[in-house]
Amino acid sequence: MTRTVYVNGAYLPENEAKISIFDRGFLMADGVYEVTSVLDGKLIDFAGHAKRLERSLSELDMPQPKCLPNLLEIHKELVRLNDIEEGLIYLQITRGAPDDRDFVFPDPETTTPTVVLFTQNKPGLASNPAAQKGIKVISIEDQRWGRRDIKTVQLLYPSMGKMMAKAAGVDDAWMVEEGAVTEGTSNNAYIVKNNTIITRHLGNEILHGITRAAVLRFAKEAQMKVEERSFTIAEAQDADEAFITSASTFVMPVVEIDGTTIGAGTPGSVAARLREIYIEESRKVAV
Ligand code: PMP
Repeated sequence: MTRTVYVNGAYLPENEAKISIFDRGFLMADGVYEVTSVLDGKLIDFAGHAKRLERSLSELDMPQPKCLPNLLEIHKELVRLNDIEEGLIYLQITRGAPDDRDFVFPDPETTTPTVVLFTQNKPGLASNPAAQKGIKVISIEDQRWGRRDIKTVQLLYPSMGKMMAKAAGVDDAWMVEEGAVTEGTSNNAYIVKNNTIITRHLGNEILHGITRAAVLRFAKEAQMKVEERSFTIAEAQDADEAFITSASTFVMPVVEIDGTTIGAGTPGSVAARLREIYIEESRKVAV
């Protein structure tokens, strides 16, 4: 089935959608994005993603697109047009396409942002069999730029990280800077030791995950102990459990780090419980 996508105000078949070769997203990775998951045909954590999007735009002095107040409606319309029960919606906003290539930001009066949204149908997102088995990761050096709190479309290093993981025969990579784990290539990283959930504190070094915020809130509500601080790969290898969170994987157990088995080598009870709570509670308030 041909997807219907959204480009600058129009709903079009994917093969008819076009953006300029002068678009700064293409030329300079001058763009931001968001990914929102869909369960039961409804959006999970939409308000959180919309809020982070506004922050990303503002941190980069990118003008707000005119359609910003209608984003919820646009997301819902794409879910409807593409008949998505379980899947993902990608939203990309760039600084637009000026007449010529130039490092200097174009005048926002004459160059308006490019807005693109598309869906990815993913039946079985909630019942992902990987969650029963857990995933394996390797550690790699974090070589990204310094403003990882802004969700930009500069995904080359994370993409290279996934390739390093693939070459090593594992599922993903955790990035390490100055001896401490920052995050996964496309997710936040956690360990559990003596029933305490440990995840890196917020800062410019990591993306402020929307799933992270929700999971930590649910963990605290369930009287679980949470510590937001840095940890090393050695500490992670010695932990009782490890897991990741993201909008596309929810809570996903990690059972091996750099060849070392974590805990019993099977998903731990804290990660399993958090996954269950997150999916259940998010479903209740999906829009
Ligand atoms: N860190 C990075 C680097 C990511 O790309 C993502 C996924 N977009 C996350 C963390 C998780 O964020 P979220 O829970 O908002 O999907």
